[in-house]
Amino acid sequence: MANPSLAKVNAECPHCGFKQKEYVAAKSSICRQCGRSFSPFAPKPDLKLRTREEAPPPERHSIFGRFEDFWKRQRSSIIECFECNRKQQVCGAATSTICPGCSAHIDLRDYKITSGFSRSIRTRGNVHLTGKGDLGSSSVVCRSALVEGRLRGNLHCDDTVTIHCSGKILGRISARHIIIDRKADIHCFCRVRAQSIEIKGRMSGEIIAQMVTVQKKASLQGDVTAKAITVEKGGMFSGQLVIGQISITQGELLEDQEPAGTNILESHFPGAAPRPLPAT
Ligand SMILES: [Zn+2]
Ligand SMILES: [Zn+2]
Repeated sequence: MANPSLAKVNAECPHCGFKQKEYVAAKSSICRQCGRSFSPFAPKPDLKLRTREEAPPPERHSIFGRFEDFWKRQRSSIIECFECNRKQQVCGAATSTICPGCSAHIDLRDYKITSGFSRSIRTRGNVHLTGKGDLGSSSVVCRSALVEGRLRGNLHCDDTVTIHCSGKILGRISARHIIIDRKADIHCFCRVRAQSIEIKGRMSGEIIAQMVTVQKKASLQGDVTAKAITVEKGGMFSGQLVIGQISITQGELLEDQEPAGTNILESHFPGAAPRPLPAT
């Protein structure tokens, strides 16, 4: 005979409304969407009790609290599993989730690094490396990052990296979009990869990107392989320029592979390199 306590039924998370299957006997559960715990089948109406006490309404401290809560819930986003790439929707308040495809744990936290930090990070949240922060982790993977402090390890962002610091950057940086801020003055020792990179400050180093923009008063020194480069009036670029059809996939962004060199050299138009481009 089947044990009835092993039957599974739908339970709804009281925090975010996410529905998941739970054992009937389960006393508590963790929501797979927002990561908060709840009692799936409590309070159970007790049939023996004639007069049931009214449960107090859920505590809502203030209009502000309710408003904040509302916005947190609204900020749901689609995230991808690190292991199997399956996508799922998570609510803004969640700090972790479990992949519905492969059951892998997915970190959704934001990290603010204000001192030395060397553990590796793999989150769908954001990373803020503050001015006093020193990030020595060999691998940091996150959604977006703001770099104001010392970055020594490798950094990959699914979305945007904003560099707002000066000095040497020893690790590899790759992202969909990279912004070298107006006050930044950096020297990258490893090749920087992005779909688009916008230089508003000063940078030296090698770039592989689809699209490179050197804004006015900005300077870029180093070799560039790109599909397109724009040097605005008053901007400065010096180095080798290879214009080629390059496709950057997520895997390439992560693994720092060599570009398909022959293809790029073939489409390399004559006279493009080396030639400093003081656009004035
Ligand atoms: Zn939930
Ligand atoms: Zn998965």
